[in-house]
Amino acid sequence: MTTTNPSPSPVAPTPRPRLAVWKFASCDGCQLTLLDCEDQLLALADAIDVATFREMSSAVVAGPYDLSLVEGSISTPQDAERIREVRAASRRLVTIGACATAGGVQALRNLADADDYLAAVYATPAYVASLSTSTPISRHVPVDFELQGCPIDPHQLLEVISAFLAGRRPSISSSSVCTDCKRAGRVCVMVAHGTPCLGPITHAGCGALCPAFHRGCYGCFGPMESPNTAALIHQLRVLGMDAGGVTRVLRTFNVGAPAFRDVPVGPADPNRHSQQERDRPATGAADQRADGDAPD
Ligand code: SF4
Ligand code: SF4
Repeated sequence: MTTTNPSPSPVAPTPRPRLAVWKFASCDGCQLTLLDCEDQLLALADAIDVATFREMSSAVVAGPYDLSLVEGSISTPQDAERIREVRAASRRLVTIGACATAGGVQALRNLADADDYLAAVYATPAYVASLSTSTPISRHVPVDFELQGCPIDPHQLLEVISAFLAGRRPSISSSSVCTDCKRAGRVCVMVAHGTPCLGPITHAGCGALCPAFHRGCYGCFGPMESPNTAALIHQLRVLGMDAGGVTRVLRTFNVGAPAFRDVPVGPADPNRHSQQERDRPATGAADQRADGDAPD
């Protein structure tokens, strides 16, 4: 007697998790970071169903979504409503970039009279319906993970998406740019040349790019976890930066982050100078930086 194997029954393909990418008040730079992952995009497209991503396609697939990436801050009443709809349609929601995690450079309006800005920029301000503040997404809805940077780092973004697919927490270091800088064996521009650098208080992720080119860190990635901002401010003052200069270098891409915004920038305490600071000549990069422009 012969037996025959039964024909295998067709196996239904496993549905891929659905990804949506959303834009709020932003420059699109963080969305472009995803498109810039050229080599990895094909593998990503195999593993995930890109349902909605207007930077890539005009097609919009209705939710629900397994993962939403949100770029941009909330700066209009319509956006304050729309983010609630996005949250309701998303199993996981990750904010990407300084705009979404801290309010972006547009949060400068939070420290001024937004109506003054409107009057200065628009011929008919009455046509513009915007909020008086620019706020991070987490001020409006629960957020599962915040990825900092302006723009975000592509490797960190891929790690976040991979972690989502694997059902684990993203492995993103919360230490400072200094950590990456020292791991890369770079000469410290602040110690060696007296160039002001925000690396000691700034979240790692860029690979210490600016120090690699002998420039101080600008703080694009926002505050690291538990930054000692007061100590760095003291050092910036020692290097010759005045109070206005310190305020300006901290209030840029991440002006809405409390660790950069809510800090006293009082006078330097000469008694806290280190031996190295006392030994350094009074001329050089620090003098060039005393006007308080962004670190260079
Ligand atoms: S964080 Fe920076 S790069 Fe990203 S959208 Fe905002 S301004 Fe653009
Ligand atoms: S150059 Fe800046 S980031 Fe690098 S170690 Fe010095 S202070 Fe830190």
